[in-house]
Amino acid sequence: MTAGESPALDLERGHVVVVGGGLAAARLVGVLRRKKHTGPITVVSAEHRAPYDRPPLSKEVLSGARDDAPLAFDAAKLGVDVRLGTRATGLDTATRTLHTDAGDLSYDALAIATGATPVLLPGTGTQSTLRTLDDALALRERLVPGARVVVIGASWIGGEVATSALAAGCLVTCVEYGDEPFAGALGPDVGASTRPWWEGVTLRTSTAVASVEPDGVHLAGGETLPADVVVTGVGVRPDLGWLEGSGLATDRGILVDARLRTNVRGVVALGDVAQRWSRHTGSHRLVEHWDEASMVASAAAATLLDWDEGPEHDPVPYFWSDVFGRKLQYVGAHRLDDALVLDRDERGALRRALWTRDGVLTAWLGVDATKDVVKARTAVGGPVEALA
Ligand code: FAD
Repeated sequence: MTAGESPALDLERGHVVVVGGGLAAARLVGVLRRKKHTGPITVVSAEHRAPYDRPPLSKEVLSGARDDAPLAFDAAKLGVDVRLGTRATGLDTATRTLHTDAGDLSYDALAIATGATPVLLPGTGTQSTLRTLDDALALRERLVPGARVVVIGASWIGGEVATSALAAGCLVTCVEYGDEPFAGALGPDVGASTRPWWEGVTLRTSTAVASVEPDGVHLAGGETLPADVVVTGVGVRPDLGWLEGSGLATDRGILVDARLRTNVRGVVALGDVAQRWSRHTGSHRLVEHWDEASMVASAAAATLLDWDEGPEHDPVPYFWSDVFGRKLQYVGAHRLDDALVLDRDERGALRRALWTRDGVLTAWLGVDATKDVVKARTAVGGPVEALA
């Protein structure tokens, strides 16, 4: 060990500070306690609510089927000091001090799980986004029959919001910069196959938004789409501003290896904020999926407890979405130039999509094919015939 390096976390006394109060943070704390870390744990969360789950926000909460989505997280039982409504504002890795808007905290090991923030478009009009429970409850109130709702972005958030807005009797327009819906994630051919799903929505593809103004959505072509509600669903970005000057290596997220280690010993990053090394793509990737944030805790906790040994976390990526009455599930990671096979039912509706490269299955998409997911997950990375 060289000067300045820390030993493995002292299980008895080591103070773990977790920044962020979402899924990755909640899971990490649970795993640390299960792995017999008995020292103090402090969770610093900018939100005023205890950890909750986000996927239901754009599904059951928005549709009115439920009002919240708490995660199993009992701070008292876990013996965790949770500082809600507290934002990390800076980090000094030399002295191991986390700066927050409620004072400084010193740590022995630090986990950063601060998620990501929705991207907004230019303009002075009101843009609704969907990241927090408060966002979902506020938007739900505005999805009333006859409301003119313009959704910007025809991807997962856009598709799920359009689903609920249609069901609520709104007049829904969706504006998408790409040529097809879902094309950013699934490519143009799969995206084109989903067009029938958007029935009832005025879908404006290949259309750029210039700005959102009080009188509506201004398109780059000069047209204005009047709107009572504008929902911007054009992606999220980790907020890294508070880490400036900390010495942590960042790109689009915090750069970590497959054991969630940042370039600074004793500091891990996990969940949506982490740009993790993946051998599946041979690159550092932002993996903004529930499955990643949930499953990564085990490896992150092992790394905190022993910096030099432990398991890697690099599973086959998985996400799902519920859009227009269908469940989409995607496993793997395809590249734009992978070969694509579309499987349709007798009426021509998309049932499955398979991406391959040199005969190897790189990704699988199923529509209402939940029973096939486990098999697909095992098959990705092997010969495509394994799926037969
Ligand atoms: P988050 O859950 O975002 O938690 C981060 C926490 O850190 C937040 O509480 C935030 O307030 C806090 N924080 C941020 N900055 C600071 C700071 N400086 N100081 C202190 N605290 C801070 N994935 C799927 O696979 N399928 C789905 O169907 C799906 N649906 C989704 C629907 C919605 C509406 C959303 C928003 C996400 C959805 N996801 C889905 C993605 C999935 O929920 C995320 O990948 C997951 O929540 C990421 O967890 P996280 O803990 O990394 O980040």
